[in-house]
Amino acid sequence: MKDVIADLRDLLGRLPAGSEIARRMSDAGVAAGDLITLGDLARIPVLKKENLPALQREPGAVDAFLPFGGLRKSARIFYSPAGIFDYESRDSGHWRSAQVIGAARIGPGDVVLNTFSYHMTPAARMFDDSAIAAGASVVPSGPGQIPMQLDIMRRLGVTAFVGLPSFLNMLIEAAQEQGLDWKTEFRLSRAIVGAEPISAAARRRFEEEFGIEVFTIYGTADIGIIGYECERHQGWHVDDDMIVQICDPDSGQPLGAGEVGEVVVSLAREHYPLVRFATGDLSRMEDGPDSRPCACGRHGMRLTGILGRANQTVKVRGMFVYPVFAGEIARAHDWIEAVRIRVERAGENDVMRILVLPKSGAPVPSDLSSVEKTVREVTKLRGDVELADQAAFRQSDKIVEDVRKWD
Ligand SMILES: [Zn+2]
Repeated sequence: MKDVIADLRDLLGRLPAGSEIARRMSDAGVAAGDLITLGDLARIPVLKKENLPALQREPGAVDAFLPFGGLRKSARIFYSPAGIFDYESRDSGHWRSAQVIGAARIGPGDVVLNTFSYHMTPAARMFDDSAIAAGASVVPSGPGQIPMQLDIMRRLGVTAFVGLPSFLNMLIEAAQEQGLDWKTEFRLSRAIVGAEPISAAARRRFEEEFGIEVFTIYGTADIGIIGYECERHQGWHVDDDMIVQICDPDSGQPLGAGEVGEVVVSLAREHYPLVRFATGDLSRMEDGPDSRPCACGRHGMRLTGILGRANQTVKVRGMFVYPVFAGEIARAHDWIEAVRIRVERAGENDVMRILVLPKSGAPVPSDLSSVEKTVREVTKLRGDVELADQAAFRQSDKIVEDVRKWD
């Protein structure tokens, strides 16, 4: 197993004083030599991704974020619509995507349709070089021009897709509209999809109706690939060359296995070092680093998927209430269609109201105490459960709604 803490200690010990991380560490009174354990790492305050657009506009920001050589060492510079520069190093492993290509068994003989955009943002680049390095051939098609892409897929016998799951769906639907038989006309057997969620139903349909094995990925333009699926498809593996901590979105302190929190990444990357980088994404650790390995043989932690955004959470009586909780409460009871959580203020107290929409025609129990019990188990808070109708759900599209007034 790689000792990332030792790599970080070495890298941070060589940092010029004006660099972004050096300033963050010195403000917190942490020296590179103090970093011995994961707990020591957590003493460094997080760098919130949502603050990057403003920080990157400060004078001297390029050198502060690229402390070892600045822009000259960047092979490519990407720019996201959120207003963030992403600096690609000259290291071919920069995007950390080789493991994704390997897990999807992409290699010699494969023809990969890479439908992520090649302009400004790095998603397409992440997979281009690594698929070629693995021996595959790549069609750098980008998104759009669906009839042309279908034609290319059939004539070249494209075997693998890379891109948005919604774009894969558009290709399939267009093929059906043209009256093409997917199973006989196309050879597509694997899809690496990301950058947006995919529903369990869509995934099942790709796999069962169209014979496409789906590999979801999790990454950011700042970091590259963070998590990826193996052939067992049970959560995202995180490789041991980076440290991922699931942290309290307010304090930045690491939480235990199974708890929902913000994904915080530390990477001992010399070109663009990101240490304690808070992605804004919520997830939970499926297995701790010491637990049993996946059946595929890979060790280490796994993430369970993106469970929302850290800035869309609501805090009630000191506890975070996440949108994912509503789904967990609904799934625990057969007769519940959907759940909304509304946080109100009554006098000096927070009140959590749980609005429950029954499935049409399902028998509704007269006693809702079993739902209250689920609410306590899932949220660690007491909530008032009440039945609601479609009209009440239509009032707002927020799953967790904070209607507290502070005046
Ligand atoms: Zn695995």
